[in-house]
Amino acid sequence: MTRLDSAIRRLTAQRDLLDWATSRISPQGLVLELGLGNGRTYDHLRSRLPGREIYVFERSPAAHPDCIPPDPYLLVGDVFEALPRFIERFGSGCAALVHTDIGSGDEEANRQLARRLAPLLENLLQPGGLLLADRAFELACCKDISSETGVAEGRYFVYRR
Ligand code: SAM
Repeated sequence: MTRLDSAIRRLTAQRDLLDWATSRISPQGLVLELGLGNGRTYDHLRSRLPGREIYVFERSPAAHPDCIPPDPYLLVGDVFEALPRFIERFGSGCAALVHTDIGSGDEEANRQLARRLAPLLENLLQPGGLLLADRAFELACCKDISSETGVAEGRYFVYRR
């Protein structure tokens, strides 16, 4: 498999899972996107969830101007500083859907990031809330339901609280 094949498979899994999740989430609760990047997945989320509140977390926004979330939905800064403040503001269990895509090519850094992020994600998700993730997480209060979604094993990860 070439790097192009691998990128296409990853993006396809991302899109398919965003479609899967947005057709299943509870009508109540916030939607969170961790990592705006180019704004591709944010754009997809907002097109699938019109009228829904989508908060986006990004430390260095550089997306296409069309894909910059409106005020006050873009939270600029490190997620490890922004998420605790967000939970304080909206309360535990405020999120119906979280999509996290903030990893890098450094696998050790990704494992550490997942360990730090896990308690914040558990705090954010409402009962029945969904987490889509670019990597595996250990989440004591969530079930790994990736295999129920049709995504190829290990390509993208889905959890339900
Ligand atoms: N899903 C996006 C898309 O479809 O365009 C791509 C996201 S890109 C892979 C990851 C983004 O996460 C980068 O823009 C990076 O700046 C951001 N990021 C990484 N670590 C972060 C952190 N600790 N806090 C906030 N943003 C972070």
